[in-house]
Amino acid sequence: MASLLNVDLWTGLVAEDRRQSGARLCAFTGEDEAALLDTAGRCLPAEQVTWLLARLLDSIGGIRPVGVEHVRMLTVGDRDRLLFALCSATFSPEMDLVARCPFEECGELTELTVSLETLTGHVPATPPADSFEKQIELEEGPFTLRFRLPTGQDQEKACRHLAAQDAARVEAELVRECVLELRDAKGRPVDCAARRLAQIRPHLEAAWSELDPSADCFSQVECPACGRAYSAVLDALSLFMAGLENRGDIFHQVDRLARAYHWSERELLALSFQRRQRYLELVDSQARPS
Ligand SMILES: [Zn+2]
Repeated sequence: MASLLNVDLWTGLVAEDRRQSGARLCAFTGEDEAALLDTAGRCLPAEQVTWLLARLLDSIGGIRPVGVEHVRMLTVGDRDRLLFALCSATFSPEMDLVARCPFEECGELTELTVSLETLTGHVPATPPADSFEKQIELEEGPFTLRFRLPTGQDQEKACRHLAAQDAARVEAELVRECVLELRDAKGRPVDCAARRLAQIRPHLEAAWSELDPSADCFSQVECPACGRAYSAVLDALSLFMAGLENRGDIFHQVDRLARAYHWSERELLALSFQRRQRYLELVDSQARPS
C-alpha cells in the first residue's frame, strides 16, 4: 500500500465526543487523475473538492472510512489545508504561479513562488470550536455576534447559486447560515433582518479570515510594471489542477509508458503521480542521444 500523507486539520470533526483532527490522505494515483478529469465537466468546483477529498481521505482521527458527508462538514479552511498538502506532496512544496496585475490599464504578468508549507503549517492561536463570539458595532449600537465557520456544504451551495448567476444571494445566504445568534447590549436575542445582515457581513468575513486563515490565502505581489501592490488569491483547487495541467495529458503519459514498458493500463494508472513522473523521466533520458 502506498504511504499515507498526514495532515493536521485545525477544526477537524467531532466524533465520539472528541475532536478528530489528524487526517490521512492516500497518494494521488493515475486512476484518481483520470476520474478527476472526468468529473470536471459534471461538477462545480466545490463539489469537485468534496469528491476528490472523499476519494483520497483514508481517515480523520477515528473516522474511517471517510464519506462525502464528512468532507462536506469540514470547514473551508480545513478542506483547503488538505488540498494544499496534497499539492505539496504530489508536485512540490514550492509552486511557481503567474499573477496578473488587476489594474486595468496595466495587466502585467508576474511570476511568483508560493511555499505551500507555510500555508499548511500555520495553526491559528484560537482553539477550534463549533461556534465563536465577537463584539461588533452596528449602526444601532453594540451587539454580540455568535457565528460558525463556513463548511464544504456552504461552499457547495454558494457554487450552485454562482452557477445560476445569483451572486448577491450567495453572500447573503452564507452570512445568514453562519450567524447563529445576534444579541443586543442587554443580552437579548434580536433578529437578523436583511439590513443588519449587510452590516454584519464585513465583521463576519474579518473574523473568518482571522480564525481560519487557510480558507483565505493570498500572496502579496508588487507589480514590476506599475509598482503598485496587490493581493493574488490562492485558490487551492485551481492550484492543484494547474499542477496537473503543467505535466501534460495523463493519457499521453500512459501511452508512452505502455510502449516503453509494456505494462497494462491498470498497472500504469495504479502508479502514484510522482512514481509515474519518475518513469517518464527515465524513458525521456533513454530516448535522448548521449
Ligand atoms: Zn501593474
